[in-house]
Amino acid sequence: MKKLSFKKGIMPKDGLDFVHQRKFLREAILEVCAPREVTIPMKQHIGTACDPVVSVGDEVAMGDLIGVPADMFGVPVHASISGTVTQISTIRLPNKVSCKAVTIKNDLRRRVSNSIQPRKNASQLSLRELTKLLWTSGICGMGGEGEPTYTKCMRAVKREVDTLLVNCTQSEPFLACDLHHIRVDANKVLQGAMALSGICRVKQVIFCIEDTWVDEIEAINKAVEETRSRYLDRKISVQLFKTRFPQGCQQLLIKALYGVELPLGTEMEEKVKAVLFNASTCFAFSEMIEKNQPLTSRIVTISGDTITGHNVLVPIGTSVSEILERVPGAHTAQRIVWGGAMTGVAINRLDVPIIKTTTAVTIIRKFEPPRMNCIHCGACVHACPVNLTPNLLNRLIELGKQDQLPAESVEQCIACGACSYVCPAGIELSTNIAKAAYRARRSARQ
Ligand code: SF4
Ligand code: SF4
Repeated sequence: MKKLSFKKGIMPKDGLDFVHQRKFLREAILEVCAPREVTIPMKQHIGTACDPVVSVGDEVAMGDLIGVPADMFGVPVHASISGTVTQISTIRLPNKVSCKAVTIKNDLRRRVSNSIQPRKNASQLSLRELTKLLWTSGICGMGGEGEPTYTKCMRAVKREVDTLLVNCTQSEPFLACDLHHIRVDANKVLQGAMALSGICRVKQVIFCIEDTWVDEIEAINKAVEETRSRYLDRKISVQLFKTRFPQGCQQLLIKALYGVELPLGTEMEEKVKAVLFNASTCFAFSEMIEKNQPLTSRIVTISGDTITGHNVLVPIGTSVSEILERVPGAHTAQRIVWGGAMTGVAINRLDVPIIKTTTAVTIIRKFEPPRMNCIHCGACVHACPVNLTPNLLNRLIELGKQDQLPAESVEQCIACGACSYVCPAGIELSTNIAKAAYRARRSARQ
């Protein structure tokens, strides 16, 4: 099978630990975290925030509804543990979202909402029933910005897309949360993807995965073969991609698959008639279909430069500090990142909660500040997958020449971190450029 890819980016031969560390991570025993309390934000996705529907003193069970969205651009929020609501406050997340949050003290009794029950007719649900389940599931994209999955499906129907892509290309170093689901729960990932494909009314489903992940490819292929006869109206296939960072980015996936550019702000559904869902998102929907289990927890990869790391099943709202209590030596870290090493946000407070889109907590023990000025080696230019000139952009930002940034297409930065990774001078290019890109996109919208 032809393996697809894009130009530039970073490959394993460039010294990035793409494979060995993550092979260990995905195979490590999945730990389960039972936090003392959780603080659950009412906005964990792009779209509308929820309003809390509980009050201080209320008793809740895991899976109980605690926040409802004002419109279809939000997703409901559910209690991730059982216990007592102790506080409703306003918090600010590292991604700069400010919203209300509900704090629940764990009663350690693991009480589960009455609505969560194994569903006897899971395989016979109508399209209408599946769509209703999706709306109530609280699911948003679990690999990116977190677009409400229901909203995305409705847009796909409106745009008459014909293809559903399942993003199994977890290309970021130190990340293995999706890989765990693909390897261990391929049937569930497939079940969720096929249900979403029905809602989106597509004719074909393509599982996109990097060639490194032999076990995962085998698991997905096996699941496809076992399931194919149930979906004769849809073509199902597995497409391999070369292992290259950041292959998982939707712009680069589309470039590799269809050979077309997808500038930021362009609707994929309109441009290539395809809709993309992350593997963990598909898994989450299968849990809703089988057990009426809304999205209340997720796998988070805990890893870093000098720790062996592992995947942990974390109730949404658990603080980073509670997770790190179980990581030996984490308190000596020079840098904690909320997310992956390349695309996450460095945090200086550990009371930050895990939300539905948090793929990882990355512990950097050997963070080194810039070692020298730019030596004009051009490595960042060769690495940038969207053909920007990171050294020039960073220089313009340092000189305060914001007005010259649009001419250099700063708004197209996908915040992948590749430029910072390859820079021999240790300059944090991506942080500066991604911030400028965010500002440029915001002012273009106004
Ligand atoms: S400029 Fe942006 S898109 Fe290009 S490598 Fe750096 S972070 Fe990635
Ligand atoms: S990689 Fe670093 S040192 Fe090399 S050109 Fe880019 S900014 Fe300068």
